[in-house]
Amino acid sequence: MTELLDLDTALERLLSSLEPLPNGHQLPIALAHGHYLAAAQRAVTAVPPFANSAMDGYAVASTDPALRRSEGLVISQRILAGSAPDGPLAPGSCARIFTGAPLPEGADAVIAQEEASILDDGRVCFATAPVTGACVRRRGGDVEAGQVLAEAGDHLNAARLALFAAAGINQVRVHSRPRVAIVTTGDELCPPGTPLAPAQIYDSNAPMLAALARDSGAEVVAVDHASDDPQDLHRVLEAATRADAIICSGGVSVGEADHVREVLSAAGEISFWRLALKPGKPFAYGTFQGRPLFGLPGNPVSSLVTFLLLVRPALQRLAGAGRVDEPSRFPATLTAPIRKRPGRRDFQRGEYRVTEDGRIEVTADSRQDSNILSALTAGNCLIDLPRQQGDLDAGERVWILPLAGWGN
Ligand code: AMP
Ligand code: MG
Repeated sequence: MTELLDLDTALERLLSSLEPLPNGHQLPIALAHGHYLAAAQRAVTAVPPFANSAMDGYAVASTDPALRRSEGLVISQRILAGSAPDGPLAPGSCARIFTGAPLPEGADAVIAQEEASILDDGRVCFATAPVTGACVRRRGGDVEAGQVLAEAGDHLNAARLALFAAAGINQVRVHSRPRVAIVTTGDELCPPGTPLAPAQIYDSNAPMLAALARDSGAEVVAVDHASDDPQDLHRVLEAATRADAIICSGGVSVGEADHVREVLSAAGEISFWRLALKPGKPFAYGTFQGRPLFGLPGNPVSSLVTFLLLVRPALQRLAGAGRVDEPSRFPATLTAPIRKRPGRRDFQRGEYRVTEDGRIEVTADSRQDSNILSALTAGNCLIDLPRQQGDLDAGERVWILPLAGWGN
């Protein structure tokens, strides 16, 4: 019997065997969401591109002696967002100004309109004298022109796209998304929408793995099914090689109908198989005709957990991620005992909640069998229990990995 591989070692081996896909291309930023940058990106313009008002109020020269006189200041112009000042600010006057409007030359502060009193003659006086720069957004205060905004390998999320747009960038050089093929295996599987024949179950891994792959930034180019026949499996995997990577579910265990490893040995290579992991022990990784192939166990919970822990980071690496996302983890207190046998790292399904005094409590689902999908939808986290950990009591501390934003 082969030694069970540690999860961290497996992930390291898997990631070091993969390179970002070579074919980078240029994209308008409106289409670049979710891609990884293929080159560092500099700001074209400063942000903001000109000094402007942070408030609705009055632009003034903070050193103007008229600010300290009771007769107040004349309002010499009115500047709205999107319109240019009429000219420089005349001494002894102020400009009515609104949020985002450019400061006139000579003005260096804005006084909020709440601080202003309009006098009978239309002049304005202020409750307080401003300091230089008050309520002014200076040119380049967010970003200087030419500044490096992001490095190759950075992820193009909503905030980064906004920053690029603000800095005058409309095209970015990105890595291609990995194109993946999903292959589910098993004679018992029936596609949803078809009546179940005796001994059949619905294929739930196909939609789940496709969703997980898309959530991980991949493009799903095929979802196929192979029967438990090595030749059929070979044929379906061969068709799947038009993708950059193949995600296969089922058939990686030691049963008589489990042919994935056999087909891989014949037309590829098995890099590793069997992890010290629960659920997910039979996970296999290798290549089929040169394409990376992830062999996930068929039980849906095992499939999902191994996808999140191993396939998602691998897809991010192929997609050009400079740094693979580590899932967020938090310490939590058990509300009830947990049963665990030492030997494999266990990711139990659970539900956490934040108490009113700010502590995190977690309860493991009573149903930890790897076919119980509803324990995943009922819960909101995985409880990460170390390999050598045994049973735990209520009140003990564990680490949890929230599913939201990761696998949900
Ligand atoms: P296997 O890994 O092929 O031995 O499958 C383990 C268990 O998962 C069996 O009970 C299968 O029926 C079930 N299973 C395999 N593939 C799927 C799938 N795509 N959808 C739902 N259940 C599956
Ligand atoms: Mg099977």
